[in-house]
Amino acid sequence: MKEVTFTVLENSPLAPRTFRMKLAGDTSAIRCSGEFVQVAVEGKFLRRPISVHDCDWETLTLVYKVVGEGTAVLSAKRPGDRVRALTGLGNSFDVDSCPHKALLLGGGVGAAPLYLLAKELCAQGKEMTVILGFNTASEVMLADEFEQIGADVHIATMDGSAGTRGFVTDVLRLKNIPYDYFYACGPKPMLKAVCSAIHTPGEVSLEERMGCGAGFCYGCSIQTKNGPRRVCKDGPVFKKEELIW
Ligand SMILES: Cc1cc2nc3c(=O)[nH]c(=O)nc-3n(C[C@H](O)[C@H](O)[C@H](O)COP(=O)(O)OP(=O)(O)OC[C@H]3O[C@@H](n4cnc5c(N)ncnc54)[C@H](O)[C@@H]3O)c2cc1C
Repeated sequence: MKEVTFTVLENSPLAPRTFRMKLAGDTSAIRCSGEFVQVAVEGKFLRRPISVHDCDWETLTLVYKVVGEGTAVLSAKRPGDRVRALTGLGNSFDVDSCPHKALLLGGGVGAAPLYLLAKELCAQGKEMTVILGFNTASEVMLADEFEQIGADVHIATMDGSAGTRGFVTDVLRLKNIPYDYFYACGPKPMLKAVCSAIHTPGEVSLEERMGCGAGFCYGCSIQTKNGPRRVCKDGPVFKKEELIW
């Protein structure tokens, strides 16, 4: 865990109310996909957890949706501004658990943490199908990025304005997609539907309101089949079999 002051390189709109923020700074505490950072926001006591979307030796990229005051403050940052964040938080996706063919399912901004995971799966030579779900065509994002790293990408929109009409699980129902392991991130109802529709092993990244984000306050505890777990410290990634919906 490391406190880092980053410099904003880019903070540009990606979709309605959704931004991609590229930061320069010390990324040495960030190990792999699935982790998150706790971003300090001026005027707010609690930091805001945002997943690692992409990361290299010198830059960290976040993708976030403006839902309240904290993320609105972030969206006003300009190149050259500073952003403080606690880095190296949370566990990670387990790339080794996927035998050969990974299925990645992202709902809305839940697509963000799957990108670094996709790069790691690609580096291990695993095949990948990505299903991204949104409300409508104007919200579709990151599809090109996943395609560029060799994923077979499918889109679902609730109003049918892009891809398959319906949920990510409708794409699964209608198309014959080969996979032997899955990874999912998105709103809770989507994750619940995914876990009941898919019969292979897999894992999901959960979101809970968080206090400290580092395991001390127990504010984000959930009940699992293995007892209470902190989403920030024991998660945010949990195996499907552990979860109680
Ligand atoms: C591990 C983790 C990773 C996350 N990664 C991302 C990410 O990559 N991109 C992204 O856009 N968001 C992500 N989130 C959600 C993000 O933290 C919240 O949207 C953000 O903190 C809201 O701050 P705010 O001050 O703008 O809104 P607030 O004023 O705090 O809240 C506004 C609305 O958002 C809801 N909300 C706030 N926090 C959460 C939360 N943690 N989960 C669900 N709903 C929440 C509130 O209930 C309220 O309706 C993540 C959350 C967690 C726990």
